Amino acid sequence: MRTRLVVANWKMNGSFALLDEMLSILEPLMDKTASEVVLCPPDVLLSSMKSAVEGTQIAVGAQNVHSEVSGAFTGETSAGLLQECGVQWCIVGHSERRNLFAETDEFIRSKTETLLKHGIRPILCIGESLEQREAGKHEEVVIAQLGKGLAGLAVDDQNRCVVAYEPIWAIGTGKTATPEEANSMHKIIRKELESLASPEVAEKMQILYGGSVNAENAETLLSQSEIDGALVGGASLKTAAFPQIVVAGS
Ligand code: PEP
Repeated sequence: MRTRLVVANWKMNGSFALLDEMLSILEPLMDKTASEVVLCPPDVLLSSMKSAVEGTQIAVGAQNVHSEVSGAFTGETSAGLLQECGVQWCIVGHSERRNLFAETDEFIRSKTETLLKHGIRPILCIGESLEQREAGKHEEVVIAQLGKGLAGLAVDDQNRCVVAYEPIWAIGTGKTATPEEANSMHKIIRKELESLASPEVAEKMQILYGGSVNAENAETLLSQSEIDGALVGGASLKTAAFPQIVVAGS
């Protein structure tokens, strides 16, 4: 049985005040939900978040990391520092990083390895563009990203990874994949994991859906057999919406 995981990706949004407010609403809900909850705020909030969530069930997540452990990489953050900030999870391969910052599968793969070496669990995002879906290439694209992201990792490391299927055309657009579309893609991903890793890894791995998840559609999406949780962008900044997503289906 896979635990449901709900991850908030605040992107370059939020504030110290919003973090306090969101945590004060989430904390009392944690014993009413079966979901694990991870909040990924911008890096400057991580250290405050570490102290604020101590003793709660809410985990600290980051949105990005560099693959190198230190050095002349102005503006980047190392996995070691994330670890010091109490970071347990980190998003890698988000389509915004792939597209706006030209991150390659190889770079994403090396970030994944660095995170694992620092005891931080990677949330590997994969997903096709609208053009690729319309050309019928979505399965091929997603399978290739999955393979390049995870192939060759030791079984223990594969077991520490989570995959987030995020069709790019559904991110921040208000257009969600239908629950059936999402579920069938998740099935394809899990099947691929069987050969890429092993049936045991495939069975255990949480596969999240991301793309315009909100308080209204969360229940239906999360009730699909192959959807083990959600990666939430826009709605994770709303104190009226994110807590509802966290308790959806509980
Ligand atoms: C995301 O950025 O990972 C995301 C899913 O965003 P949104 O929920 O706003 O579509």
